[in-house]
Amino acid sequence: MSQTINGALWGIFFHELGHAIIGVNRVPITGREEDVADQFALYFSTHFIESQGTPVVQPTIWLFTQMAKGHDIASADQDTLKRLMSNEHSLDQQRVYNLACWALGANASRGYASAQYVGLPQDRASRCSSEFDTLDRGVRKQFQKYLKIKPQQS
Ligand SMILES: [Zn+2]
Repeated sequence: MSQTINGALWGIFFHELGHAIIGVNRVPITGREEDVADQFALYFSTHFIESQGTPVVQPTIWLFTQMAKGHDIASADQDTLKRLMSNEHSLDQQRVYNLACWALGANASRGYASAQYVGLPQDRASRCSSEFDTLDRGVRKQFQKYLKIKPQQS
């Protein structure tokens, strides 16, 4: 359990690091900054951290899964729905599927467990490799110049 908490804390930290890099450097993005921060965290975790043997993405997925249990939109009242839908973050459940998809796209063997864990539908899973390639190209283009370290193979 402590390794899960440790990995989830790193996942949150890299998400926040993504925000900081965007903010400090005025990184041009279009679309939700929260989703871009998730993409940066996934990119950084897979290229720099998980290759060193520290799981980050699956623990982060676990954390968001726990958070999603507290936001059951099927039984939410109107005020709760309004708050969730107007929030700058994607829904926790969407973030779970996104991370699992990108993890699968980044590394089919490591990401498979995450895709299984979240029950990623096959039609989404079939596009994750391409989705990750686009994410990877975008993050490299927009963020790599602010990092002094070079990515390793994921
Ligand atoms: Zn954020």
